[in-house]
Amino acid sequence: MMCIGTIRFLFLNPAEHDAMTNPENSLTQKQITHFTQRIDARKSLLLDEIRQVLARSKKENYADLLGGAGDSGDAAAASLLRDITEAEIIRDVGEVRDIAAAEQRLAAGEYGVCIDCGSAIRYKRLDAYPTAKRCLACQERREKLQAPSPYTGR
Ligand SMILES: [Zn+2]
Repeated sequence: MMCIGTIRFLFLNPAEHDAMTNPENSLTQKQITHFTQRIDARKSLLLDEIRQVLARSKKENYADLLGGAGDSGDAAAASLLRDITEAEIIRDVGEVRDIAAAEQRLAAGEYGVCIDCGSAIRYKRLDAYPTAKRCLACQERREKLQAPSPYTGR
């Protein structure tokens, strides 16, 4: 009977095999613990920030928060603050989602493995973006595919 490792080995293409045997490209348990802690700390920070932003947005006196925008500026200030608050929340929630996905990959033992090509993501890249789910090559390819559209401008 073949063990899972043997079966997996049989299905690896040469590039994946290189990535798995190259020590520079595979994470040690210590490194995984390090990233787990960093991701965890970042999540607590973001959740705190989201709570604070939500609490702040519930306060009615927007002008005070902006430091005396004056009577005529109140409406504009309120609208500006709402926009800022929304942008902050959207950004934070997006990051929390990335973190949750990284936690799932950690739990599944798939952390640091590119979701597109299955290669190991380089330590340097994970160090810069602990929630990275793609290797640099796949990320760049993806960004090229998602080049600004003439219709949406994004
Ligand atoms: Zn990849």
